[in-house]
Amino acid sequence: MQRRHWIAGVFGVFAAATANLRAQDKAGATRLVKSPAEWRKLLSFDSFNILFEEGTEPPGSSPLNNEKRPGTFICAACFLPLFDSAKKYESGTGWPSFWDTLPGVMGTKKDFKLIFPRTEYHCVRCGGHQGHVFDDGPKPTGLRYCNNGLALRFVPRGEKLPALRT
Ligand SMILES: [Zn+2]
Repeated sequence: MQRRHWIAGVFGVFAAATANLRAQDKAGATRLVKSPAEWRKLLSFDSFNILFEEGTEPPGSSPLNNEKRPGTFICAACFLPLFDSAKKYESGTGWPSFWDTLPGVMGTKKDFKLIFPRTEYHCVRCGGHQGHVFDDGPKPTGLRYCNNGLALRFVPRGEKLPALRT
């Protein structure tokens, strides 16, 4: 009897694991995968360094810091829309800052590049690194998405968004 329970338990875990894998495959189908060499050809040296080597641009260097027009900020690599201008704010840090992203467009992971752990976030479609998210942002989320300007492109409202890169 006990042995049967044990076997049922193992099968249960196995079923859950395969269901999880299938879910990942489904999401993965919409992903854009390119080799670093392919991205290098499409992006500037500095954008590649930020997006695919998790670099950080110097504070105050991005023209997008002063971008106040209504519009959409899209991933500089795959063109997925990531942020709306309505959720951009002046954080005083020297990096374009937002208190929220568009729904479901970012993946996150912890990184330990500095002594304290930080939450890295990246475009869910191409995996391109965008920045780090902190919990000292304004209401209503209290979040601060501290983004590299070189990882984004701005499309003013009324202008057509480019087709997603394939
Ligand atoms: Zn992307």
